[in-house]
Amino acid sequence: MAVAPDALPQALPEGVAERVVAPRHSLGTRLVLATLGFCVLFIVVAVGVLTLSAWNAGRERMDAELAQIEQVYRGTLAKAIWELDRDALQAHVRSAAGVPSVGRVELKVTLAHSAPEKFEGSRAGWAGPGRAPTRQLVLEYEPYPGARETVGELLLQGDERVLWQRLRSELATIVIAQLLQSMVLAGLIMLMFNRMVTVHVQRIAAHLATVRPGNLGVALGLQRSERSQDELTQLVSGVNHLQGSLATYLEQQQRYERELAEHRDRLAHLVDERTAELQAANERLQSLARTDPLTGLPNRRHFDEVKSHEWRRAQRSGQSLALLICDIDCFKDYNDHYGHAMGDHCLSAVAHTLRAHLGRAGDLVARIGGEEFGVLLPATSEAVAFMLADRLRAAVAACGIEHRHSQAADVVTISVGLAVLQPGAMEDFEALFLQADQALYRAKAAGRNQVAGSIAEPGQGMEGDAS
Ligand code: GH3
Ligand code: MG
Ligand code: MG
Repeated sequence: MAVAPDALPQALPEGVAERVVAPRHSLGTRLVLATLGFCVLFIVVAVGVLTLSAWNAGRERMDAELAQIEQVYRGTLAKAIWELDRDALQAHVRSAAGVPSVGRVELKVTLAHSAPEKFEGSRAGWAGPGRAPTRQLVLEYEPYPGARETVGELLLQGDERVLWQRLRSELATIVIAQLLQSMVLAGLIMLMFNRMVTVHVQRIAAHLATVRPGNLGVALGLQRSERSQDELTQLVSGVNHLQGSLATYLEQQQRYERELAEHRDRLAHLVDERTAELQAANERLQSLARTDPLTGLPNRRHFDEVKSHEWRRAQRSGQSLALLICDIDCFKDYNDHYGHAMGDHCLSAVAHTLRAHLGRAGDLVARIGGEEFGVLLPATSEAVAFMLADRLRAAVAACGIEHRHSQAADVVTISVGLAVLQPGAMEDFEALFLQADQALYRAKAAGRNQVAGSIAEPGQGMEGDAS
């Protein structure tokens, strides 16, 4: 599967890929802290609401208790008032005031035939009803059926301190219950979160930390029930998909690199081949450029290069350098009578002969003109040069190439002009060449088929004849 380059993740900054950051705060801990925070808030609200309802319930309970006391005492009190039994009234009032929820009891006697009286009883330290309930009851007595008379009035006031005391004990229970509930809830959430999320997230982080180009095929897996299909499942499949894409991309890259390397090698090989061919062609060209095509001897250009080189060497080493100019005698006549093609054959034969009779390494025979050959003999004395020149001359004559129209002989012959450079004697090679040319002229003038020479020394020419 091909991966578009822009679908690939950007390269991470250097070093980031190597670092696996240890979490400073676990998600579970943060979740628990958040849960506890919400629990505290919830406790405050819940305690407020529950306290209010407990307070109201306490008041209702007290009111019911006071109502019960009313019911218990209304008959007895009415009868005692009717009978004007003050001791009994006092005792009943005290007894009613002794009931825990009662703060104060007030009994007003309102008999028609006597002055109003009041009996009171209250709990020690009672300082007013406050928010405690108060009940007021009109006491009636029926001395005989159908004769109902109002005899007094009973006031029951609750004790606020009892309300507060009861509320306090209930409040403690409410707070403890809420705290316990919250802590158990937070603990359970953390436990569940750890089991459902944290453990798997840690496993994913550990897996990602070990992912390398070489192990992209190792898929990420979580130890969970197969039925769990949630965000973690999505994350795992996303990671595995990413690894797969990366593996394909890397494989493709490596294939491209291999192909590139192969192309490069092939190209380098081709370049080497072409370079070798070019070098060979160049060498052939160089050789052709320095070779006379008719005779196969080095040509004038080659001769000129070697002459300069040998000239400098002779100057440096102080050794002599001999130059022979060999010219075929009456060659124009040969051409005229035997034809140009035969003339070419003759030139080749003479060239072959000259080369064949100069065996020493460093000696050079070159065709320097139409029927002229230059011979360079490094480190050769005049006497030896004379000897060699004459040997060449004799060899050509000995070839016996018929030349009936030569003024020199019946066969093809050569005349040789010789000059020998003595170290430090001349300014340049041309002077030596001129001397050899002049010597050749003399050899021609003297009848051809001979060697003529002069030793090249500044200011004095020396001639010698070898014919
Ligand atoms: P001399 O003895 O004085 O040297 O007389 P010559 O006839 O040899 O000299 P000349 O300079 O008058 O003639 C040289 C002739 O060489 C003329 C030319 O036709 C011939 N020649 C030069 N190059 C070639 C060549 O490549 N092939 C043939 N066949 N002839 C050539
Ligand atoms: Mg000539
Ligand atoms: Mg000639």
